[in-house]
Order: sequence, then C-alpha cells, then structure tokens
Amino acid sequence: DEIVVSELASRLKVTAADVIKKLFSLGVMVTINQSVDYDTACIVAEEFGAKVTKEVVVSIEERLFEEVEDTEENLQPRSPVVVVMGHVDHGKTSLLDRIRHANVTSGEAGGITQHIGAYRVKAGGRDITFLDTPGHEAFTAMRARGALATDIAILVVAADDGIMPQTVEAINHAKAANLSIIVAINKMDKPTANPDKVKQELTEHGLVCEEWGGDVICVPVSAKTGEGIDELLEMVNLTADVLELKANPDRLAKGVVIEARIDKGRGPIATVLVQSGTLHTGDTIIAGTAVGRVRVMRDDKGKAVKEAGPSVPVEIMGLAEVPSAGDDFAAVEDEKLARELVEKRKFDAKEEQFKLYKKVSLDNLFSQIEEGSMKKLPIIVKADVQGSVEAVSQSLSKLSNEEVKVEVIHGAVGAVTESDVMLAKASGAIIVGFNVRPNPAAADNAKRDGVDIRLYRVIYDAIEEIETAMKGMLAPKY
Ligand code: GDP
Repeated sequence: DEIVVSELASRLKVTAADVIKKLFSLGVMVTINQSVDYDTACIVAEEFGAKVTKEVVVSIEERLFEEVEDTEENLQPRSPVVVVMGHVDHGKTSLLDRIRHANVTSGEAGGITQHIGAYRVKAGGRDITFLDTPGHEAFTAMRARGALATDIAILVVAADDGIMPQTVEAINHAKAANLSIIVAINKMDKPTANPDKVKQELTEHGLVCEEWGGDVICVPVSAKTGEGIDELLEMVNLTADVLELKANPDRLAKGVVIEARIDKGRGPIATVLVQSGTLHTGDTIIAGTAVGRVRVMRDDKGKAVKEAGPSVPVEIMGLAEVPSAGDDFAAVEDEKLARELVEKRKFDAKEEQFKLYKKVSLDNLFSQIEEGSMKKLPIIVKADVQGSVEAVSQSLSKLSNEEVKVEVIHGAVGAVTESDVMLAKASGAIIVGFNVRPNPAAADNAKRDGVDIRLYRVIYDAIEEIETAMKGMLAPKY
C-alpha cells in the first residue's frame, strides 16, 4: 500500500514540492518519484484538509465539487465568449456599444443601460457573449488567475492609425491565451482610412489576413456608422462553428467571476459567467473565498432570471463576501464543506504571502528544469530601441536546448509596464529589460506577484546570465 509522491500531490491538488516539504517536516525524506506508505499518506492528506478512504486519497475539492465526465451525449453546443482588445482610442468601447445597441431587440431595450461586465447579443439567430470590459488588462488579470473565460478575441485596429504598441501587446496576450483572433479594422468611415497598411503591418506580427493567403479574418468596420458590424458578427459565428464550442448544461454550474462589487443597500454583487452546468436561484455557490446562496439573479438586460446555462453571464446576489474578478465559482451541494474549503483557501493565501513565492526566476530555473516541470522558458523582452528587441529576442531564442525551449512571447520598445508583469505572471515568464527600467507600479506588482525582472545594459550579459541559469550554475542572489 504505497503511493508515489507526485501522485499523492496531484490527488491532493497541491504541488509535489508542498508534499515533499510536509513530509520533510514529518521527518520523511523523499523525492518526487519515491513512494510513501499508506499511513504517511493519510497524515499528509489530513494536513491538507483531505480525507483518506481505503487506499484512496480524496481531497476536500474532490469531495465538494461534482465531477461529471464530458461525453458526446451530455455535451451541448454553447455560444462563444468574445473579448475586444486593441490600442487605446482605436474604438473598443464604441464598437462594444454599437454591437450592443444594434443587436438588442426593442422588447429588451428597457434595461439597456445595465452594465454587468458582460452582455449577450443575437446575430444570425444565435447568441454571442461579449465581455464588455475593454482592454486586455482586465482580461489578462483574469487569465493571470487561471481563468480562461474567453474563446475569441476581436482585435480592433484603427484604419487611420495602424498597429500601435498596445495592438502588439493585445496580439501577444491573445496568442498566449490561445484565443482565435478576428481583426476589426475600425474607423473605415474616415477619409484617411488605409486598411491595406493595417493588413501589411499585421503580417509583420504573424497575422496574415485571408485575402492575402493567410488564415486571419479581417473585417473592415466603422463603429460610428455601423458599417461592417453585421459581417463582423457573422465572422464570430463562423469562427465559433470551427471551434465547436460545447459544454454540459445538466450539471452543477461552474464558471468564473467577471466583476464584483459591494452595493450599499444590497450587499456583495458579482457577475459570473457560467462555463458549464446551469446555475439556479437557490443554489449554494463558492466563489474564491466567498460562500452563499444565490438569492437573486439578473441577466444583462436587468431582468430577473431563475437559471443561467453555459456562456451566460448573470449578476448574482447572496454571497457573504465580495469575490475577485477571475475567481472560479462553482455550485455545490455541501454548504458546510464549502465553508471548510473557504477556510483552507484563506489559510493558504496567508501562507502564500509569507512565503514570497517565486513562480519562475533565474534563481530557481535550473531546479525546475531538473524536476522536469519546465519545458519552456517564456521570456518578455523590453528594450530602448526596436533593434535591441530583435537582437535580444533572437539571441535568447537560440539558447534553446533539448530540455528547455526559450520562447520570447512578447517583445516591445519601452519601459517594463504593469501589463508586461501581468502577462509574465499569467504565462510564467521572466522579463528581460535592456536599457530600460520598470515603471514604479510595474516594479511593485512584480515584487508582489513574484515575477522576475532582469535588467541589462549589454546584450552579452543577458545571454550569458540566462545561459548560466539554464545550466544551474548561477550564484544565488541575495
Ligand atoms: P477605445 O479607447 O479603444 O475604447 O476607443 P473609443 O471607443 O473610446 O474611441 C476613441 C475615439 O474614436 C472616440 O472619439 C470615438 O468617437 C472615435 N471612434 C471610434 N470608432 C470610430 C469610427 O468607426 N469612426 C470614427 N470616425 N471615429 C470613431
């Protein structure tokens, strides 16, 4: 009756390192691939709030959350969830407003001013869900917390302005999150609109539009006149068809928190996006460290609803606390156990703060490679001039060897920003700055999130240090 450490960790839904540490504190020295006996596993499991039944370790999560296997019978088509990204002033907000107003039937128009963080429109008789927090910050913040809430990114590029720094950022964020990208070339009503220039610039970032033999859909639109909006939505539906999006509506609801706030009169209010299952009023849910029973549920038109299925955003009341955007939520049957899990989560969060937990840093790179937990080293490169961005990116990529692929997921000119830190956190990347510095907020966030920022003045130093780290010969930094 033995269990391998890695297996025990995965059943407990904690990292192998945590299990090893716990074992160590109990005086048991093991490595990730060694086994421990049943009694030891029991003790460790209990330390993590899990219960052990005959040879099977059942974590508190497993006991609480319903596990339903996806099968062909229970999976139903669901509508796509879309996020709009792009450079500031290129028309994200205008486009979202235009889409919303043009595609909400008059009967629903009463509640049109409701803003819950997401809305649904009908196009070609089908539903599309839009997250209406424009900008990739909100989106990346969610992703940094592990919430992959979206399927498709509409990249808005102003036809009179072309690709700008935040457009490039948006492209890289969307790619890193594996989203399908549709390009909306906006402001086509302007006499200075130059869509061909936009398409040309897109190719420089790996996006080749269909007319030019690539596979990226580009739709010329005007958020001002409404031109091209129907085609854009049609393309969203087409892309959704290709993705064959499906979910099981007949299970306890699971999803993600999109927005949350406290209302003076009504208490905590959260907008959640159901990703699978169906949420009903009266359901007990856990969201982050908040538990409660759904008292009232409203849709994006402000209408009270009794249930919400996959891809449907609803505003809910009844949680005891305000969760954070990006938190997972799930409907559960055992409220008492849910409260236990919340306590555990709160405890873990506190411990985490003390630990000064580092995700990826040059200092622990080698041990992660050795452990086999790192196959890819994502890097974000910021430099003072474009030539350096390219030179550094190329040289770093060449460091790839059999164990690790060095991959530059984003490179741009300018200081290291909060957005870079967020992307790094979400992707487990380190940031290499070349003749640039992080802005103060970025430096603070990096410290808080354990993101490693390395600054260099000479390309050779950067290459050498990362190469050394990959070989495990870096002297620890104090
Ligand atoms: P965001 O920062 O990307 O959300 O951009 P906004 O939606 O706030 O738009 C920025 C500016 O561009 C505003 O003054 C809009 O009125 C204008 N704008 C947006 N879309 C269009 C368009 O299709 N045509 C024209 N002419 N102006 C637009």
